[in-house]
Amino acid sequence: MKLLVTGGAGFIGSAVIRHIVNNTNDEVINLDNLTYAGNLESLLEVSDSERYTFEQADIRNRTEVDRVFAQHEPDAIMHLAAESHVDRSIDGPADFIGTNIIGTYILLEATRRYWGALEGGKKANFRFHHISTDEVYGELPHPNEAADAEARLFTESTAYAPSSPYSASKASSDHLVRAWSRTYGLPTLITNCSNNYGPYQFPEKLIPLVILNALEGKQLPLYGKGDQIRDWLFVDDHARALYKVITEGKPGETYNIGGQNEKQNIHVVHALCDILQELCPSHTCYRDLIIFVKDRPGHDLRYAIDSSKIERELGWSPAETFETGIRKTVEWYLRNMGWCRRVQDGSYQRERLGVST
Ligand code: NAD
Repeated sequence: MKLLVTGGAGFIGSAVIRHIVNNTNDEVINLDNLTYAGNLESLLEVSDSERYTFEQADIRNRTEVDRVFAQHEPDAIMHLAAESHVDRSIDGPADFIGTNIIGTYILLEATRRYWGALEGGKKANFRFHHISTDEVYGELPHPNEAADAEARLFTESTAYAPSSPYSASKASSDHLVRAWSRTYGLPTLITNCSNNYGPYQFPEKLIPLVILNALEGKQLPLYGKGDQIRDWLFVDDHARALYKVITEGKPGETYNIGGQNEKQNIHVVHALCDILQELCPSHTCYRDLIIFVKDRPGHDLRYAIDSSKIERELGWSPAETFETGIRKTVEWYLRNMGWCRRVQDGSYQRERLGVST
C-alpha cells in the first residue's frame, strides 16, 4: 500500500511514518510544508528508506496537492497536517482557519477528484483518514463539580462543543470530512484522540516545555490551579492505533482513541520533576520551580475518552502506562537536547537540507 501522510514532519505524523517504515512493507509519501512545528530531523531514522519520500507542499495550495496526487497515486491518505497549539490559536487564529479548515477543504476536494477517477479495487479500497482531537467535544465536569462527573467520558456520539479557536477549527474540519462522506460517498475515517506525549514533541507543549525549563532552572508555569485533567496517550500507541484504523477501520466510522490515563496537569508536572530529580539530581528541588499563572481563556477543565469502540472492533489497546511512557519520554529528551535546540532555531533544515522554515 502507498500511504500519503500530511503533516508527517510533525510530532504525531513523524511517529506514524516511523511506525509504517519500521513495521510494515508500505510506502509513505510525507506531504508537509514545514511550519515551525515540522522537522525533518524527526524522520532521520527512516529517511534513507526507498519506501519513504518527502514532498514539501502546502495543503492550502490545490495545484501542489494535485501534483503530489498525480505523481504518487496514493492508495490512502492520513491527514494530520494542522496548526495544533491552543495558545497560538488564541493569539492568532488566522493560520488555524487557513490550514485546519480551508486546507482540509482543499485536500478533500483534491481527493474527491482523484478518487472519482480511480477504478476497480484501487477505488473500492481507497480511504481518507482525518486525524482529529478529543477537544472538539468541549469539556467534561471536573470530579469535584458534579456527582457523576468521573463516570462521564467522551464517546463517538458526544455532541461537539469546542471552546478554543484550535478546537473549533478541528471541529469544522471534522464536519467537512463527514459531509464529504455523506454527500459524495468519499470513504472517510475520523479519529478523535486525547493528549499525546512522547519523543519528538516540539518544546512548546506542556511536557517537553517543563523538562527543558526545569533543566535550565527556569520557572514551571501552570495555568490556574493546575487542576485541569487530560487523558494522556503515548505517541507510539497513537501511531499504532492510526495504522489499525487506516487498514482495518470501516469507512464512514469515527473512532475515539485514548490512554485511560486521566491526570491533573499538576500531577503530570510533579511526575516530571520527580523523574528529573532522580535522573539529573539538582541542588534545588525541581518542584520548587512550579508557579501558578492566570488561567488560559476558555480553558477546558477535563477531557476523558471512552476508547472501547476501537478496542472492541479493531483490537487496539495502549501498550504504555503513563508511568512507563513518561519515564521513556524524559529519558529521550535527556538524550536529545541537541534535537530540541535545532528544532527551536530551525538549524537542521537550514544547514543540512537548504530548506527554509
Ligand atoms: P504538530 O504541530 O506537531 O505537526 C503539524 C505538522 O503539520 C507539521 O509538520 C507542520 O509543518 C505541518 N503543517 C502545518 N500546516 C501545514 C500546511 N498548510 N500544509 C502542509 N503541512 C502543514 O502537530 P501534532 O501534534 O503532530 O498533531 C498532528 C495532528 O493530530 C493534528 O491534526 C492535531 O490536531 C491532531 N491531534 C494532536 C494531538 C496532540 O496531543 N498533539 C492530540 C489529538 C489530535
